[in-house]
Amino acid sequence: MAHDFDLLVIGGGSGGVRCARIAATHGARVAVAESRHWGGTCVNLGCVPKKMMVQASEYGEHALDGRGFGWSTEPGTHDWRRLMAAKDAEIGRLNGIYVRLLANAGVTLFEGRARFEDPHTVMLEPGPLDPSFAPRRVTAERIVIATGSRPVVQPHIEGYALGIDSDQAFHLPDRPERVTIVGSGYIGVEFSGIFAGLGSEVQVVYRQDLPLRGFDHDLRAALAEAMAARGIRSHPGTLLHRIRRHEGALRVTLADGREWDTDLVFFAVGRTPNVEGLGLDTTGVRTTEEGRILVDAGSETDQPGIFAIGDVTNRMNLTPVAIAEGHILADRLFGGTVRDWSFDTTPKAVFFSPPLASVGLTEEDAAARGPADIFLARFTPMRHTLSGRSRQSVMKLVVDQESDRVIGVHMLGEDAPEMMQGLAIAVTGGLTKADFDRTIGIHPTSAEEFVTLRTRTRTVGAAR
Ligand code: NDP
Repeated sequence: MAHDFDLLVIGGGSGGVRCARIAATHGARVAVAESRHWGGTCVNLGCVPKKMMVQASEYGEHALDGRGFGWSTEPGTHDWRRLMAAKDAEIGRLNGIYVRLLANAGVTLFEGRARFEDPHTVMLEPGPLDPSFAPRRVTAERIVIATGSRPVVQPHIEGYALGIDSDQAFHLPDRPERVTIVGSGYIGVEFSGIFAGLGSEVQVVYRQDLPLRGFDHDLRAALAEAMAARGIRSHPGTLLHRIRRHEGALRVTLADGREWDTDLVFFAVGRTPNVEGLGLDTTGVRTTEEGRILVDAGSETDQPGIFAIGDVTNRMNLTPVAIAEGHILADRLFGGTVRDWSFDTTPKAVFFSPPLASVGLTEEDAAARGPADIFLARFTPMRHTLSGRSRQSVMKLVVDQESDRVIGVHMLGEDAPEMMQGLAIAVTGGLTKADFDRTIGIHPTSAEEFVTLRTRTRTVGAAR
């Protein structure tokens, strides 16, 4: 039977848009259905507005730092509403770009919410993006689910509904003076820096001994110090127990009984895949108990012809990963080309100030695999010798002893994400410590440290 489209993509976020656009450029008849906002989480409620807010939060410190260089700069006051308006205008512009990119590639856009009726048929109904959307049924030879994820809520916590999540954090009418953040993953750490930089008093509650579980231990320890240096109060090793209203504010109580008053409780405790209402039960698509769609190495679900990419598969929830999955899938299905990539060498960054960035194995993971040499540098960046700000950079190489390959690079410090992009090429290419050593540095930079680390700090891991 002839279908309406060769490919229907459900979800107009970063991964879905890339997949649809590339498939269309290969000549496929493609449609995308989006019910909330073009560009998905990254553009509307994630990476893009977050980075603008991080940048906004750094100007006050820059003004103070300028004094060490002879400027008589004052941070002045920050206008939250002006920042929100500027951010919203830019996001509106980006939404338009996404629509144009798709339309110019010849993709059909449906501003409706999709529900499977069978493995090749989807019913489209009105959603928040266009409440007047006329319902219609479409069929497609292949369907890609790219519906993303949303913040987790914690209904077991008494008064949890008094708190907000990251979706709401992007639309607060005013900046709260006192903020309590629950969770110390990417979002908790990034927003702790945003609010602290803009002048709020910030406390972070988390259950580990250090923030950012999964990152290299030295970076996590350095981050805990960097958070303290910015006046952020951490409460490690504990859980939030209760939130209640108290004299015009919110009173939070921890599991160990400590309590304080705050103006905002912000839950940053992970994200969950968007699969509700998709009608997956009418297909052979299988999910895990938490709702993550199971896919094989080619992004195909258990239902032949239905694929899933990005956060809805809940593997590595990063925009560039979703984009890579979407692009590679479209190339393979409609362009006949094959390209591979690996989660193992996917770089990642956390935009605290100073930011963190990593690629490859942590020292702990490397040690579990075999002997590895660790090269570690910790120093005050040049800018802060004059600014007087207490800020340290930490840089680290993890080198496989047997092959001499650099298998992990980690940094906390200014411009770490910008440096890590290039270093990720070296790690992806399997370059050795000898290659790093024969590379000439650029002076004076912090980055040159990565090619001048000569003294091994320690060796970890047992002989294979
Ligand atoms: P993360 O998974 O990064 O962190 C979740 C945090 O919540 C952890 O501190 C975790 O603790 C804690 N937590 C989870 N469940 C509970 C619980 N039941 N009780 C108490 N604490 C709990 O999630 P985020 O919400 O910060 O971010 C979601 C994802 O979005 C990230 O993992 C990342 O993939 C992506 N993202 C990427 C960004 C970037 O690339 N810069 C920026 C923002 C988000 P524990 O460690 O103990 O599990």
